[in-house]
Amino acid sequence: MNSSGAGRYAPSPSGDLHLGNLRTAILAWLFARSTGRAFLLRVEDLDRVRARAEESQLHDLQALGVTWDGPAVRQSERGELHTAALQSLISAGRTFECFCTRRDIAEATSAAHGAVPLYPGTCQNLSEAERAERRQERPAALRFLSGGGTEGFTDAVAGEQAGPVDDVVLRRNDGAIAYNLAVVVDDADQGVDQVVRGDDLLTSTPTQLRLARTLGHAPPSYAHVPLVLGPDGKRLAKRDGAVTLGDLAAAGWDVPAVRDALLDSLGLPGGGLENALAVFDPAELPREPWVFQGTLV
Ligand code: GLU
Repeated sequence: MNSSGAGRYAPSPSGDLHLGNLRTAILAWLFARSTGRAFLLRVEDLDRVRARAEESQLHDLQALGVTWDGPAVRQSERGELHTAALQSLISAGRTFECFCTRRDIAEATSAAHGAVPLYPGTCQNLSEAERAERRQERPAALRFLSGGGTEGFTDAVAGEQAGPVDDVVLRRNDGAIAYNLAVVVDDADQGVDQVVRGDDLLTSTPTQLRLARTLGHAPPSYAHVPLVLGPDGKRLAKRDGAVTLGDLAAAGWDVPAVRDALLDSLGLPGGGLENALAVFDPAELPREPWVFQGTLV
């Protein structure tokens, strides 16, 4: 049992939370509470913001019994911290200007269709004269001079992991701080030492570990949980029909029924999150995605 530290759920307010998001949030809560940690809620609103999504997301989480400590925090209100971290990376010579478009990167790499390619290094060794010329064409993004190679970690659900570190964008060419920097800075600043999130982010973790260490932070522990898939075997999405609490309520499923179906999909008893907490054991969690067939029974 840990008596300090914190876990968190960090949704992007791009729309209503669907069953996959809600299931991950329940798991993040169970992981944190079962280890005596605080549980924080951080709204990751640096991009992909849809009006009223935040309000509806927080409402749905509370309805399920996912409660958090202190007020929910908005990432967009933490810009000074993000900028200070970026400045320290600039001062340490760990950034470089990048003028590539998405297309430039796609053309310079042979990543499999759909996979996000690693940055091919195109702008890494531009001379000052070349950079000055390129700046006339388009503003630069700032990328992490990561040093490349790989980072490994032990994931509480996914097991031993290792993967390549990428020279990710830290500040986009429109001046906005990018997700990979903000998430690392905020977790460290908020005392988050346990990150529970969907396993679609597994490939981002080696880079985030390197970024945390470069900024002088001890990285958190990780638990990447399997996603919920739709009947077509793809990641659950709006197109799969009634997948949010609102849609499901309209189809006759009240909140306790949805909560219990989610808990059942995790092999946990229904009837309130405290019941699940009493028997929660990460070692017993299903390692496979849950396929939602469009109806809860
Ligand atoms: N905001 C991210 C998302 O909703 C999650 C980031 C994280 O948990 O590290 O996909």
